[in-house]
Amino acid sequence: MSQSTAAVIAGAYFPGPRSENETWVRGEFQAVLDQWFGWRKALLVDDPAVVSAADRLSPDRLERREILSQRLGELCAALTAETPTYTPRYIGHMKAEVSLPALFGWLAAMLHNPNNTSREASTVGTVIEAEAIGMLATMVGYDPAVAQGHFTSGGTVANFEAVWRARYRMDHWLSLGLYISEKTGAPLDVFAAAHMGWDRFRALWSEHGLTDAVLRRYSAAVGTPADIWRRISRAAGRDYLGPVMLVPGNKHYSWSKAANLFGLGEESLWPVALDAAGRLEVDDLERLAQRAEAEGRPVLMAVGVAGTTETGEIDPIDALHDRLELWEAERGVHVWRHVDAAYGGFLCAILGGPDEAVLTPASAAALRAIGRADSVTIDPHKLGYVPYACGAFLTRDAARYAVSAFDAPYLDRPELGDGKWSSTLEGSRSAAGAAATWLTGRTLGFGPDGMGSLLAETIRARQAFQTAVAEAVPEVRFLEPADANIVCFSVALPGEPLSLANRRTEALFEAIHRSQEFSVSKTTLGDDYAAVIARHVSGYGGVRDTPGLVLVRCVFMNPYWAGPAFRTALFPPFIALLREVIARPIADG
Ligand SMILES: *Cc1c(COP(=O)(O)O)cnc(C)c1O
Repeated sequence: MSQSTAAVIAGAYFPGPRSENETWVRGEFQAVLDQWFGWRKALLVDDPAVVSAADRLSPDRLERREILSQRLGELCAALTAETPTYTPRYIGHMKAEVSLPALFGWLAAMLHNPNNTSREASTVGTVIEAEAIGMLATMVGYDPAVAQGHFTSGGTVANFEAVWRARYRMDHWLSLGLYISEKTGAPLDVFAAAHMGWDRFRALWSEHGLTDAVLRRYSAAVGTPADIWRRISRAAGRDYLGPVMLVPGNKHYSWSKAANLFGLGEESLWPVALDAAGRLEVDDLERLAQRAEAEGRPVLMAVGVAGTTETGEIDPIDALHDRLELWEAERGVHVWRHVDAAYGGFLCAILGGPDEAVLTPASAAALRAIGRADSVTIDPHKLGYVPYACGAFLTRDAARYAVSAFDAPYLDRPELGDGKWSSTLEGSRSAAGAAATWLTGRTLGFGPDGMGSLLAETIRARQAFQTAVAEAVPEVRFLEPADANIVCFSVALPGEPLSLANRRTEALFEAIHRSQEFSVSKTTLGDDYAAVIARHVSGYGGVRDTPGLVLVRCVFMNPYWAGPAFRTALFPPFIALLREVIARPIADG
């Protein structure tokens, strides 16, 4: 029987769960080293060597080499105690086997140690980065000819990059509003000014003959924020409390960090309500935007999540854009829209191919709409199977990428110059993650017949797991619906209170952990998920006598789930373990 494309990819582009590709991988590592040493030997041939043949054999050198070998051996031995995340038995967190293209690309670039902070420090690495960014941009639906971006250490920093740019844009618009108000004495409509859009900004800029030097004196990003806010309050005739961020209740912790870091205070993160499926409610988002307007507080950005960290849910990104594009078209209110696709961004590879039906139509529509966002976060070190630390930040075009500097002429700063150092939060940045992503794009590919077919198969594995468990263990209650390759479940007997079910689920998690056969993770959904919890508990006629819902969480991202082998080998023992633990009496809490 011929194998599926996904199974062929899993077998060809990964080391193999039993290291089946060892010989080939060794060969490629050797080839990379050959090239590296060859490059060095061919260069600068007249330079002196510092180690002669006799030196190499001198006792003091041999002794040092011996020490290094030993310590390296110790390090490698210590690392064997690391959690084996390459195996499908590991379904705990968003990590799995790394791919061979990524490993080879990473190694090759790392040996040359390019620092992508500037073109001068990295003549090749920066070009590879730009090309890799183009590949990711194409995958998420941006036009690669105009999209901009760079690699980061992860999704957290990529989310910060988005806040930084949204603030830069808003600061320009609000500064101009303050300038006009102070000059003309007309009251300042903070919300209208902060969302005016570049067209209106440019029109007002020329109408008032403004210069950069003048506008700087109205900017909270350049001047003293307390002074500027006081003047905004005076111009508006009411206390200015600063901007808010509309972020769904299913958000990653990095958004709280961002609020903290950018000096907004965590109360300026306004959580958007979730529906019973755990996805952002667009009506509530609009309600919060209206409330911000009524309170004279700008919306720094509205965030949608494609693939939430806890449950893998995909927010209705299309509906979010529809709603806020109406605000733009009808009222000239431009709100920065960011999609946190750190986890789910790579699922875009499935779109338009033979496997698209593995996604619900709602998920497919949401993923298709990512390209309408101002900015996007995507993590190659999650579903891209790239080694850490590798995230990426993308914007739709150069204007949205501009940040930080008030250098003239700040209206057209394509940030395409020699270095990205002035437009990245991080300073020195390795080219290794970019090269890993680049080689993945050039081999596996980010389309439906490459990454798409592999990821579709991981979603099918999650579905197959649910089917097998549901048939065998009726006490397992899956959190429905699951949009991606993550699934969560609790254990409950019909009609029992949630507090008891939580204890059962905790006990199961502990037992799985102790068994050392499988690694799963655990999560507790809280008040943000009230609608989800109510639906889940009523599904088995239970009673919600405690706020939080404890869940076992399984992430089916491992590439080896693609073929039937691991489903056949691992589902039965997992089910047996579930049955055995569930049959035990539950201790009184
Ligand atoms: C993982 C994740 C992040 C943070 O990414 P890191 O790479 O861990 O910094 C942000 N948002 C979402 C939705 C994530 O899943």
